[in-house]
Amino acid sequence: MKEYELVIIGGGPAGLAAAVAAFDAGIKDILILERDHSLGGILNQCIHNGFGLHTFKEELTGPEYAARFTDQVLERGIEYKLNTMVMDISPEKMVCAMNSEDGMFMIPAKAVILAMGCRERSRGALNIPGYRPAGIFSAGTAQRLVNMEGQMPGKRVVILGSGDIGLIMARRMTLEGAKVLVVAELMPYSGGLKRNIVQCLDDFDIPLKLSHTVTDIEGRERVEAVTIAKVGADRRPIPGTEIRYECDTLLLSCGLIPENELSQNIGVELSPVTSGPIVNDGLETNIPGVFACGNVLHVHDLVDYVSEEAAAAGRNAASFIQNGESTESDKIELCPEGGVRYTVPVYLRPGKMNDTVTVRFRVGEVFKNSSIVTYFDDDEVMRRKKQIMAPGEMEQVILKKSDILAKPGMKKITIRVEEG
Ligand SMILES: Cc1cc2nc3c(=O)[nH]c(=O)nc-3n(C[C@H](O)[C@H](O)[C@H](O)COP(=O)(O)OP(=O)(O)OC[C@H]3O[C@@H](n4cnc5c(N)ncnc54)[C@H](O)[C@@H]3O)c2cc1C
Repeated sequence: MKEYELVIIGGGPAGLAAAVAAFDAGIKDILILERDHSLGGILNQCIHNGFGLHTFKEELTGPEYAARFTDQVLERGIEYKLNTMVMDISPEKMVCAMNSEDGMFMIPAKAVILAMGCRERSRGALNIPGYRPAGIFSAGTAQRLVNMEGQMPGKRVVILGSGDIGLIMARRMTLEGAKVLVVAELMPYSGGLKRNIVQCLDDFDIPLKLSHTVTDIEGRERVEAVTIAKVGADRRPIPGTEIRYECDTLLLSCGLIPENELSQNIGVELSPVTSGPIVNDGLETNIPGVFACGNVLHVHDLVDYVSEEAAAAGRNAASFIQNGESTESDKIELCPEGGVRYTVPVYLRPGKMNDTVTVRFRVGEVFKNSSIVTYFDDDEVMRRKKQIMAPGEMEQVILKKSDILAKPGMKKITIRVEEG
């Protein structure tokens, strides 16, 4: 196959925004490879509104938001192949893919952007006792069935996990005529956005039971009942707190995992916290010319931030193709501490970084009336007060290159949550 300057794996919002930005930065020879039969990624099944408030200052549905970017790809004449599964990438950036038209084929690329998104944590990983009857779905599968295939998974529903997809599906199933009995969440806080708890549960009187988990599933052929129980600080069920719900469906919304099998095969180093690649300020992995963005890098709360991050990856990949590998050897490590779980990026190249770099992260628990504090080595340089911070919402700090260059020899930047 012909060589491309830039190959992008995944045609979801991240892949599309990366392609548009790389094209606008001067790289015209781009190929997007997408395993599904259309561009747009998982947004095609998210038919509720609320997308694009930051990017377009409008409330769009998922498919509308995706279409805005698909249109930009088409206007620029950027090439893409659908129904095409990428099987492997070599460290030399040889992409091996397969589809029913071309068979198996190899594409050499000067740079590669990983934009494969994420997948849902499966029931098997959750160790729920009981039989395995019909009627147990991941929330994403139920979303696809209802929104794309016109099928209702059931009529009386219990949802385990309060991630955003579970919250959205609680409302969706209710609007389609099902009775959602309860949303049970293992943690003492919800994993989703506050706005989704209000709009999807409170507005429909659906109870959210925090610090609860499923302890039993009844039914041999089909789910007949689900029992939940309160959990203690050790997250183990407390005997005597069980509540039994007669239902025919259990939806699982227990977290998303970046889809990084391909990344691992090339030797991309992954973060044990995010399960996404460890990247520098340019969103470049440890393999020169291989970049990552979107949910494959870390699971985002809003797609607007996916598009913003992916555009940066596209511009940085363009610069790599135009200017070659970075020769910067100085690195400043970003250290998450005191309630900050991780940072993306993980390190900065002071001489190479753009004028500003957005550092994104999540906190590990709920913090009230606290501050996000940034230190250059031991010196406090920034403090931003926040009334509330929760694990379900992403936070960010913007670092300026000029501030970093004003402190030569700096070894680390620490971001932490402090009281007050
Ligand atoms: C089930 C589910 C439901 C969601 N619902 C919502 C919601 O309601 N609201 C919300 O704000 N966010 C939702 N999200 C989050 C949403 O995924 C992100 O905001 C956004 O779509 C991430 O964009 P992305 O491009 O990184 O990933 P995706 O949209 O997942 O796109 C990744 C693309 O890569 C393709 N791909 C993966 N591997 C390969 C391969 N080997 N070869 C070729 N192509 C490949 C996939 O087919 C996919 O099209 C949901 C996520 C999931 C998993």
